[in-house]
Amino acid sequence: GPTCAFKDMALQILPYLLTTSIKKLGVDKKVVILVATSGDTGKAALEGFKDVEGTEILVFYPEDGVSAMQKKQMTTQEGGNVGVCAIKGNFDDAQTGVKTIFTSKETADKLAENGMMFSSANSINWGRLAPQIIYYVSTYAQLVADGEIELGDKINIVVPTGNFGNILAGYYAKHMGVPVNKLICASNANNVLTDFIKTGIYDRNRPFHTTISPSMDILISSNLERLLYHLSGSDDAQIREWFGSLSKTGRYEVTDEVKKAIADEFYAGCCDDEQTKACIKEIYDEYSYTCDTHTAVAVKVYKDYAAATGDETKTVIASTASPYKFSGSVLAAIGKDTNADEFGLVDELAEVSKIPVPASLAALKDKEVRFTKVIDKADMKDYIYSALGI
Ligand SMILES: *Cc1c(COP(=O)(O)O)cnc(C)c1O
Repeated sequence: GPTCAFKDMALQILPYLLTTSIKKLGVDKKVVILVATSGDTGKAALEGFKDVEGTEILVFYPEDGVSAMQKKQMTTQEGGNVGVCAIKGNFDDAQTGVKTIFTSKETADKLAENGMMFSSANSINWGRLAPQIIYYVSTYAQLVADGEIELGDKINIVVPTGNFGNILAGYYAKHMGVPVNKLICASNANNVLTDFIKTGIYDRNRPFHTTISPSMDILISSNLERLLYHLSGSDDAQIREWFGSLSKTGRYEVTDEVKKAIADEFYAGCCDDEQTKACIKEIYDEYSYTCDTHTAVAVKVYKDYAAATGDETKTVIASTASPYKFSGSVLAAIGKDTNADEFGLVDELAEVSKIPVPASLAALKDKEVRFTKVIDKADMKDYIYSALGI
């Protein structure tokens, strides 16, 4: 897609779904899209919504929590209805800030007075999840067409996970009929999901790690709430209790039945930056392929899974990013020099990988930076009001 993210497909469709719904519902308000991003969502949402009539989009990213290329992608964004702002904090701070603003009556009233309303382009928006289900249906069909599997054979799916959106789309694909054995959830050093899937205890009281796979640097995975709703038999009171406990104490523990339901369908693993880099090197040595840092986490977790279980089911690994967004980390992993500036690194990676540099990334080199604001996380609301001129 236009921003070299797997998120592009859903975020190219979402503006159409949204503007169509608004017309159908007879809403005459301008829709203000608020986004918290760990790198890729922000840019993909900006491209999807840029200059879409009746919308305005504002993106918050953690100042030191995205790659140099991701930052350049966002700060050079074109369009008359866009705003981009860095916050001093991590992704969870940005996401919590956005969620707080969303649920504040005062802010909603203020927007309404000015003929505006909020919506989200994060994967808490169902319009993000639904399009992604197609990835898994399409992949399965492709495997059958290629003769890799027989129709009806089960496959495993490994997804490098952050907010639990992409893997949840895989879960929906399974429950819509795609034959899936295990959904394998791969995390980096921010391994709160690994522990949860293994023990049934979700505990975000742990250090936040800034890693070389920044789009997975998350300790509060929003879409897990949806999974638990399904696995608890749509028990909304139970879900409210668990997630109330999560915001109060940072922790909750699910029932034995839910634990068992999770273990039936999911497997989880994690790896740190050193293991991720070692995996990139292994893949490069074996296949001359330069794998990005997020996909490499999934490959490593899959290798561990296969070794631990002996499961030989045909497995699909979701590859979520272009290596060119993380050129420095990929080059370092395969033992190359990383002294050049960001676009020097891109050229170097192109020589090594023999993969053409995506035109949209190459073009960033000469683009003017439009957005340089960095704010405290407490000032997000003021930034929004000022950007909207209200
Ligand atoms: C967003 C993203 C992820 C995580 O996807 P979730 O749906 O948030 O779990 C993984 N890798 C990359 C490159 C991403 O941009």
